[in-house]
Amino acid sequence: MEREWEKYFREVDPYVPGEQPERPDAIKLNTNENPYPPSPKALEALKGLDYTSFRRYPAPEADSLEEAIAENYGLKRENVFAGVGSDDVLALSFLTFFNSEKPVLFPEITYSFYSVWAKLLKVKYETVPLVNFEIRPEDYRRENGGIVIANPNAPTGVLLPLEAVEDIVRNNQKSVVIVDEAYIDFGGTSALPLTRKYENLLIVQTFSKSRAFAGLRIGYAMGDRNLISAIKRVKNSFNSYPINTPAIVLGTAVAKDRAYYEGTIKKVTATRERVKKELRSLGFLFSDSMTNFIFARREGTSAVDLMNALREKNIFVRHFATPLLKDYLRITIGTDAEMDAFLAATREYLKEHGEL
Ligand SMILES: *Cc1c(COP(=O)(O)O)cnc(C)c1O
Repeated sequence: MEREWEKYFREVDPYVPGEQPERPDAIKLNTNENPYPPSPKALEALKGLDYTSFRRYPAPEADSLEEAIAENYGLKRENVFAGVGSDDVLALSFLTFFNSEKPVLFPEITYSFYSVWAKLLKVKYETVPLVNFEIRPEDYRRENGGIVIANPNAPTGVLLPLEAVEDIVRNNQKSVVIVDEAYIDFGGTSALPLTRKYENLLIVQTFSKSRAFAGLRIGYAMGDRNLISAIKRVKNSFNSYPINTPAIVLGTAVAKDRAYYEGTIKKVTATRERVKKELRSLGFLFSDSMTNFIFARREGTSAVDLMNALREKNIFVRHFATPLLKDYLRITIGTDAEMDAFLAATREYLKEHGEL
């Protein structure tokens, strides 16, 4: 029987993250992590950490980190807000900007956290269908209380050209438009320069993917100082979870080492282009990906069965059990050796099942 007070529990639809297998030898292609280590400058910073500094609270505004990010992008400090992963930055942005009676708009297929936050924070929202997995800017020309798009989109991997992003921003100057660029470094053009032209545009990026730093939890928003200071006001009014001291110190080193990351990003994208060819020759179908993953299906092959067969071989890929996505697997780009193991296991599965 329901207890009286249970009526007042907040009900949530939890976000379901990808599995983190304990096996150290697992080939993990299921959470879009970077297969290469972070900048060696982060290791140097780690070695130089003064552990006695941990007795103090961290700098509430991650000063050195925000400054390093600002410098890397040619911005002023007042244009940058750094948080505990871009999930924190995005959730705080929803809380700060989306308080309209009108619905916030985001694509029907996109990062599944958007609907989780909207429900949790009681933000009214409507999803907009994609057409052939593509966002159509004209579908965003209607009354709204804000817009969020991931570009490139997840889990489709599809990049919206910069002109189309600008079209959405230009036609929605009464609301805040958030562009989540978690994967932009893998081949897209950032809309960051547009923040100088449009005061309502907020760009959100992360160190989790292209900077190989998911475990340290660093994400950031960039935009007009009014947007940035609004987020900081909301955060400082209640949020006592600042970025911790080691993450600030190591993250600052990461933000400064652009040259190292240009190298690892090149490796990931070269592997991705090779895997695209191989997957096509195995009969997989997918939209062109500009990210560090490929979202693919295959006529006559069950995505779940293939995922489970791969797991038997200690290879983990991601499946989303929703009506629109159930035929697809999202395959993160790992090292060349990891992708060869994945391709060999997939080929073997298809042969064994008479599907090749
Ligand atoms: C991974 C991801 C994020 C969150 O990254 P953090 O690890 O919280 O910085 C945000 N948006 C998209 C689209 C992502 O794929």
